[in-house]
Amino acid sequence: MKTNFHIAVVGAGAFGGWTALHLLERGARVTLLDAWGPGNSRASSGGETRIMRGAYGPDQPYTELAARALKLWQKHEERWKRRFLHRSGVLWMASGRDDAFERGSVQMLRASKIKFRELSAPQMRRRWPQVNFEGIEWGIFEPECGYLDARASCQAVVDAFVASGGKYRQVSVMADGVEDAPLRTLTLSDGSKLKAHRYVFACGSWLGKIFPQAVGPLIRATKQDVFFFGPPPGDNRFTDAHLPVWADHRGRFRYGIPGSDRRRS
Ligand SMILES: Cc1cc2nc3c(=O)[nH]c(=O)nc-3n(C[C@H](O)[C@H](O)[C@H](O)COP(=O)(O)OP(=O)(O)OC[C@H]3O[C@@H](n4cnc5c(N)ncnc54)[C@H](O)[C@@H]3O)c2cc1C
Repeated sequence: MKTNFHIAVVGAGAFGGWTALHLLERGARVTLLDAWGPGNSRASSGGETRIMRGAYGPDQPYTELAARALKLWQKHEERWKRRFLHRSGVLWMASGRDDAFERGSVQMLRASKIKFRELSAPQMRRRWPQVNFEGIEWGIFEPECGYLDARASCQAVVDAFVASGGKYRQVSVMADGVEDAPLRTLTLSDGSKLKAHRYVFACGSWLGKIFPQAVGPLIRATKQDVFFFGPPPGDNRFTDAHLPVWADHRGRFRYGIPGSDRRRS
C-alpha cells in the first residue's frame, strides 16, 4: 500500500537506484535524483561490466550480502525478462603460501550457501588450457557468479522504478545547507527546492563534496587502471563461453572479465 511518506534518494548508481526501488516497493513515495544519470561515465557504477562474486576473504559481511544479491538478481531478471547477470563463473587462483584470502573465503561461501568447488592445479589446467597457471596450486570456482552489465542494469533499475510510480529527476543536489540539522530542503541545480520526510545520500565518491564536514577527506577517489585486450579475430578462447571471471591475489590483486557480448572479437 502506498503511503504519503516522501523519501528523496540522491544518486542513481547501484546503491541509490536499488535503494529507491526497494523503498518504493515498501510503499514510500520516492523521488530519485542524479546529476548525470544512472550508471553515467563518471560514476563507479558506470562502465560495461562489474564482477558478482561471493569470495571476499575471512570474517566480513560481503559474502552474505552477495548471497542475497544473487537471489535478488534472479528474481528481478525473471520479472523484467532480461538478463544482466552473466553466470560465467568466477575462478580464484591461489598459491599454497599466500592463500589466507581464499581459505577464509571457503568458510564464508559454505556458511552463506553460495555454490563453489575447490579445484587442484591439474583440474584447472585441463578445464582452461588458455590460462597460464604457473605458480598456482589450487583454486575456488564459483559457478553461479560471474559479471553484471553495469551501466545497463543501473538504467533498468531506474526504468523499473519509474514504471512502478517513482519519480526520477536528472538534476544535481547542491551542497548548500545539506549539513544543517535538521535538513529541511534540498537545493537543486535548476534553482528549485525539494522537500521530503527523509533523505538518502547515495552519492558514491561525491559524498565528501556534499558533506565536507561530516565526510570530507574520509573518502578519497583513487585511480584504477582498466585494460582491454583484443584477441585475434575468430579466437573465442577468452569470451564468456570459454573463460570465467578470474582473480589472482598473489602480490597485487588482479582480476579479469571475459569477453562479453559487445566486446567479442
Ligand atoms: C573501475 C572499478 C571497478 C570495479 N569493479 C567492481 C566489481 O567488479 N565488482 C563490484 O562489486 N564492485 C566493483 N567496483 C565497485 C562498485 O562499482 C561500486 O561500489 C559501486 O558502483 C558504487 O555505487 P554507488 O551507487 O555507491 O556510487 P556511484 O555509482 O558513483 O553513484 C553515485 C551517483 O551519485 C550521483 N551524484 C553524485 N553527487 C550528486 C549530487 N550532488 N547530486 C545528484 N547526484 C549526484 C552521481 O552522478 C552518481 O550517479 C568497481 C569500481 C570501479 C571504479
